[in-house]
Amino acid sequence: MSEAEPLRAVIARHGLSASKALGQNFILDRQLLARIAAIPGELDGANVYEVGPGPGGLTHALLEAGAKVIAVERDRRCLPALAELEAAFPDRLRVIEGDALEIDERSVVGAENPGAVHIVANLPYNVGTALLLRWLGGPWPPWWTSLTLMFQREVAERIVAAEGSEHYGRLSVAAQWRCEARIALAVHRSAFTPAPKVASAVVHLVPKEAPEGVGLAVLERVTAAAFGQRRKMLRQSLKSVPGALEALDELGIDSAQRAEVISVDEFVAVARRLS
Ligand code: SAM
Repeated sequence: MSEAEPLRAVIARHGLSASKALGQNFILDRQLLARIAAIPGELDGANVYEVGPGPGGLTHALLEAGAKVIAVERDRRCLPALAELEAAFPDRLRVIEGDALEIDERSVVGAENPGAVHIVANLPYNVGTALLLRWLGGPWPPWWTSLTLMFQREVAERIVAAEGSEHYGRLSVAAQWRCEARIALAVHRSAFTPAPKVASAVVHLVPKEAPEGVGLAVLERVTAAAFGQRRKMLRQSLKSVPGALEALDELGIDSAQRAEVISVDEFVAVARRLS
């Protein structure tokens, strides 16, 4: 692929009709792709783990920014287009055919370089959320430096929502107990080919020093119960979680409140008591 070749032509040349089953909505605008690739910050010489490169538009932008990229793509039809990129950027791109949900990322990315890998992905919504939770739930500090992930706008808003706001919920707590999370870029649906039904947004997450002694599984058990009945008082919604009401008492958290006003730190404190 030459630098100037429009992505539409790359896609046509390789017969990459978008697969709905694989959640394929491609971004063809190279300016927009360059803006997304700039979100993690300076990439010259940096390592990037990209999930779902597809025809390679974002991959190309990351390589142009100077990154060394390891990319995991499930759709083997995309491999010839990505092989052209590998040839155009010698020793800078490694493409792995596989399912990002199954792959042993540490062995792929290399355990010898912890904390120096930016993860960038434009993924189908369900895969993105599953991977986000996996990346948030691992040992801390994590093996990655930052996450730059495309989501449906509404999901992005849930990730960054503050307590007391409409979108605040399980995903907000899961993301914010371990990361600073912000919406870095709103992306109109027309930026994708084919255009999805809803708007998207890129979320940028940077790990922060995380509280010790809490596991994501326990935190999720508490938030799932609390937000599962978000209109109910905690003393009702957390009944099903053994020890949770006692933890609220010990922590001086009023159990007449609803989940949506409980801060991330308070949820973490409850989970720590139960861990
Ligand atoms: N990065 C390209 C872009 O921005 O135009 C493609 C984005 S498209 C929304 C999502 C890509 O993720 C597709 O190429 C799809 O085949 C790939 N994909 C979907 N599920 C995957 C999985 N579980 N593991 C790896 N890649 C996956």
